This record gives sequence, structure tokens and C-alpha cells, in this order.
Amino acid sequence: MGQPATPRSWLHYGIDAVLDWTAHTVRVEQRISYRNETGSPLDRIVLNVPTDQFDLRFVKIGSRRIRDYVLDQTRLDVPLKEALPPGDTVDLVLDFSLDVPPIKNGYRWGHLGYWGYSERQVNLGTWFPTVAVYTESQRWITPRFHAIGEYLVLEAADFTVDITVDGASDKLRLAGPGTVTKSGDNTWHLELTGAREVTLSLSEEFQTMSTSTTSGVEIQLYYFSDSTTGTLDAPRHALYTAADALALYEELYAAYPYERLVVVQGDFPDGMEFSGLVFVSDDWFRTWQGIPNDWLTLITAHEVAHQWWYALVGNDQGNVPYMDEALATYSEFLFLERYYPDYLAWWWEFRVAPYEPQGFVDVPVYSFDGPRPYINAVYLRGAQMMQALRDALGDEAFFEWLRAYAAAMGGKVAGPADLWGALPDDAYAAIADIRQRYLQQYNVLLPVSELP
Ligand SMILES: [Zn+2]
Repeated sequence: MGQPATPRSWLHYGIDAVLDWTAHTVRVEQRISYRNETGSPLDRIVLNVPTDQFDLRFVKIGSRRIRDYVLDQTRLDVPLKEALPPGDTVDLVLDFSLDVPPIKNGYRWGHLGYWGYSERQVNLGTWFPTVAVYTESQRWITPRFHAIGEYLVLEAADFTVDITVDGASDKLRLAGPGTVTKSGDNTWHLELTGAREVTLSLSEEFQTMSTSTTSGVEIQLYYFSDSTTGTLDAPRHALYTAADALALYEELYAAYPYERLVVVQGDFPDGMEFSGLVFVSDDWFRTWQGIPNDWLTLITAHEVAHQWWYALVGNDQGNVPYMDEALATYSEFLFLERYYPDYLAWWWEFRVAPYEPQGFVDVPVYSFDGPRPYINAVYLRGAQMMQALRDALGDEAFFEWLRAYAAAMGGKVAGPADLWGALPDDAYAAIADIRQRYLQQYNVLLPVSELP
């Protein structure tokens, strides 16, 4: 399918996919160009396979077929014949097919909706393997699947996707992030740089509407016409909520990292964030009451905030989920504060107080076996922690902190020391009591040698 015209980053994924619309299967050839930036020679490349509906046909390095790879559940270990020196690049090819699962009902399975199909929608979210993050201390990070929440740790990379859909009508539309060009009948070419993954949603029933921010970002909504009932125009509200949220977070945090933001009405609960594309549940479109203080507003503002806290600044979503979820949840409040200031007390009473959130904020998703206690501790206590920090630091220092953190860690994977270390030393010391109240590991910046 040719090489991209743009210069390649240290990590580039090229995807050629053919989706069978009626059988819900995808045939994929995936090319990975990986430059060793670890500073150490590598004797293997380890990948995370995000789904078990995955049938691997072969693995190649260059043109040489690899036979001694090991696929153990979600970990794919590809040994290298000769160690890869720092600075050198290895080219991998994976050939596999996928069975897209039906979207199941119920919260526990609902999260799989971004990887699944409904009667009218196919969602390809976290659908192909990604190279594991490598650190000197942890080596290859291969997180275990957990049904309660996200758990992946993803490098920022560049992506080129070519996808053809067989067996669909000419009404088919593809919602995808980045630069998307239709290159033939139900064939699209997509380029996205500085992203954690590439997620697509397809439907023959999609309608679209779009707007743009004064900073020049295009916001495009893909929705279903049955979500417009009577005089209530939920799609329009979702579109302008996303645009307003994006403009606010650009002002508060950092420039938006992509040229476009795609918002998709998803046939599964809640919502989900991906790079340059977010899902907002069909439930929130259909139940919208025409008022700003509603789930459609909150979840849209929340998912858009993840473009900064997940997509721009990455984190270990399984082990320190508060680093993206507490910030995204508190961003809902910031959105209301700017655009609907009459609803600030409502937000705390509706979103937080009824759940009487308990526990420490910095707890791994693996510690929870149900979504409610997880959300209470990580999202809601997390939002209370952000408010306490803002009260203690004052607005100027609080937002300066978040801007400094985004500037230092954009395009990288941040850990707690990066978040808290973005505070000036005296501010970090001054909020010791808040750290102790909300964090298990409250001495975040204590050097490892000084740990008890
Ligand atoms: Zn979230």
C-alpha cells in the first residue's frame, strides 16, 4: 500500500485491514517499525495483544519468518536472532485475523462495546497488538486484562491505516481520527501521528455534523438519526459540548494534539476515550432532557478531557488509573464552571456526594472487582483531591502545575513522580496533608533508596 510521505517516528504502525461486514471478521497485515530507544540492547520485542479473538497466522522480521515466538494469552514475545543495539530499528510484520464479538449487555461487558458490533455499528477499538512499554526497572510491561476498567500502557506512535470493507452498502461511513481520505469504494486511508492507538467505528446509518474551534480544530460528530426526538437535538448538544470542552482544555492545559476530534455515538454504556476519537453512549443521547446538567454533557466533557490525560500525556491506566481518570472527572466540573456556573453545587451533589466516596485515590484497577467502588475511589475521591489541591494552591498555581505537567510529559508515559514533581518544591511540601489524606503512596517523590 506504499510508504507514508511523512517522516517516520521511532515507532510506526502500518495497518492493512479488510473487514467482512456481514461475517464481522477482519484480516490484518500489520507492519511495525520499532527503533530501540531504551539505551540497552534488546534480545526480543514484546507486544500486548488486546483481544483473545485473535488468530495469528505468522510473524516476520523483515522477510524472515519467525517460528519461535510465544503467544501467552495477551503477551506476544518475539525473540530476535541478534540483539537489537540502541538506536537500531527492527521491522516486524504480523499477519492475523480477528473475530469481532457482539456487544453484550450489562456493565461488566459494556466496556467491550468499543471492541464489538451491534446491529448497526462495528467498533474497532484496541484491535491490534502494540509494542509493550519498556523500562529499565520493569522491563517489558505486559498488563493483565481486567474487566472493570482500562489497564493498558501505551507509547505514543505514528499510525497509517488502510481499511477496505467488503459486503457493506455504499451508505457505509467510517468514523476515524487523524487525516482520513476515502480512496475507493468502502476503502479509506488514515494517518494519525503522536497517538496511543487508532480506533475506528463504522455504520451504514451514521449521520454527521461538524464545527470547528477558533484554534482551527475540526470537531466531527457521528450519530444516529433516532437520537433526535421531538424538538430535542441531542446530537447538536453533544457536538457543541465537545467543541466548548476542547476550547476550554486548550486554554487550561495545552494545545489539542491533533487536527480533528471525532465524537461517536456508541452502542454501549457510558463512553470511552481514544486518541482523536471518543465514544459517548447512545444511552446519554436518547435520555437527554434538553438541559445542560445531564449525563450527555458530563460524559462528553469527560471523554474530551482524556485527549490531554491519556492521549497527550500517557499513563499506566491499570496501576495508576487516577492519573487520567481523576483529572478527566475533575475536568467535568471545570467545564460546568466555565459554561454553566449555575450547576457547580449540582455537580458535587449529583456526581459525587450520593456515593460517599471512600478509600485512597492511587489504587490499581486490579484491586476492584466491581465498577462502583472503583469509580468512587479513583474518579470521585480523585475529583475531591483535585479540588482540595486547587483550594490549597490557589487557581494560578494549580493550573500552572497542570500546564507544566502537560508540557513536560506530552507524548510520553507519565508516572506519579512526573505529576507531583511538576509542582514547585515548596508547593509539593505545602500540600503534604492532602497527599496523606488521599494517597496511599503519599511520599511520591521520596527517592527509592529512602523507602522503608
Ligand atoms: Zn474516563
